[in-house]
Amino acid sequence: MKLRATLDPEDWQALRAQGHVMLDDMFDYLEHLRQRPVWQPIPQTVRDGFHEPLPTAPSELTALHRRFIDDILPYAAGNAHPGFMGWVNGGGTPVGMLAEMLAAGLNANLGGRDQIPIAVERQVVEWVREIFAFPESATGLFVTGTSAANLIAVLVARTAALGLAVRRQGLAADPRRLVAYASTGAHVCIAKAMDIAGIGSESLRLVAVNERFQMDVAALARAIADDRAAGLTPFLVAGTAGSVDVGAIDDLVALGQLARAQALWFHVDGAYGALAMLAPELAPHFSGIEQADSIAFDFHKWGQVPYDAGFVLVRDGELHRDSFASATSYLKRESRGLAAGSPWPCDFGPDLSRGFRALKTWFTLKFYGVERLGQMIANTCQLAQYLKRQIEASPALELLAPVALNIVCFRYRCSDDTTAHRVNAAIVVALQESGVAAPSSTTIAGRLAIRAAIVNHRTEAQDIDALVAKTLALGAIEISKTGKP
Ligand SMILES: *Cc1c(COP(=O)(O)O)cnc(C)c1O
Repeated sequence: MKLRATLDPEDWQALRAQGHVMLDDMFDYLEHLRQRPVWQPIPQTVRDGFHEPLPTAPSELTALHRRFIDDILPYAAGNAHPGFMGWVNGGGTPVGMLAEMLAAGLNANLGGRDQIPIAVERQVVEWVREIFAFPESATGLFVTGTSAANLIAVLVARTAALGLAVRRQGLAADPRRLVAYASTGAHVCIAKAMDIAGIGSESLRLVAVNERFQMDVAALARAIADDRAAGLTPFLVAGTAGSVDVGAIDDLVALGQLARAQALWFHVDGAYGALAMLAPELAPHFSGIEQADSIAFDFHKWGQVPYDAGFVLVRDGELHRDSFASATSYLKRESRGLAAGSPWPCDFGPDLSRGFRALKTWFTLKFYGVERLGQMIANTCQLAQYLKRQIEASPALELLAPVALNIVCFRYRCSDDTTAHRVNAAIVVALQESGVAAPSSTTIAGRLAIRAAIVNHRTEAQDIDALVAKTLALGAIEISKTGKP
């Protein structure tokens, strides 16, 4: 059989009808999310279904859509669901979904060239500068997530410390040994960025935290002095604004002052927390962020933009460009025609081909407006306080960390830590398998915690009530299994 050369359909009318069915199915899914379990264990038959041989012949679109509805949609992680409280995951929005569809239809490649999609990305860069009170000379870039954004910041800081020669000659050509600083509560992707940058993860000093889980600034000053005395070259302080474990915000004013006094690059990992700048009642906690040399954050967490939409903002735009721009004949720039519009996004990061992440972000910011987004963010923090009060009112539960923002770490009380570890780990798994609520776990000062991060705009007080009630019920069952209180 001779197959059509083009991949477009022969019958657009039929495709159009099927497309509308697919769109309606997703609206149904989002409208009635609450009636579904947050997450459910995946049947082996469903897993087995994704080990088929490479398809040689075509399939019907209706059949593929059926597979999606039956075998994919029910077994996603559930982060769109109001009961999802694990890790730090955004919920997405119907408007973001529609914008993704438009972006996919356009199939824009935002590496470069003279096109309005890049003007849309630059528009978001302007708005981000405004949110963080950065100067016009600051540059920004959409990336996959904060892991990539932190890496870009580490690389720009490395160029700032060693000069442009490091790009050509590598670290080996320079006798200086760079060291960086973050708190013990910093996300592991900063160590990974140090690793990928060739500086080494052990060159990231993890500074102790105080009782509010903020980096101990005096300990930081001592670590810098010790490293200088040992002949090393401190170059970077990475503050955390919204730590992944407990939502702690480092004292950014103090870190900024110390970094400036020591001539170090001051980076802020604000992956999920930084967008709290949109909530007037929360913004003061982030005071000092406007002094950063670079900020990494995600629109896909608290910003609710569909995955993925990470962002890096760099104060010194020229240095940012110098750290990544690479001249080559096939990427030559012109003043007119398609090759105009330099600098291009590919001059500010490692990616050449890039999707249109800016569009779903532009739609989200325009459609909701930052006032409403700020209120939504503040509301998740109020729900976290509501959960905190429920825990304090339940003798069987105890809080394990202060609630600075939207993350609540607690546990079911047991007679000893060993029992508590086992019981609470079992509760987290059972909660997830129940489909009622999906928190995750973490370890706070050696104690296993049930960790609820209220990130999703769909979460309401009833979801908090359900989490508490189910935790108490499961805790009683687990305790009865051990025979120990
Ligand atoms: C989520 C998170 C990261 C990683 O961001 P990704 O978008 O998942 O790559 C880094 N730091 C903090 C504080 C985070 O919460």
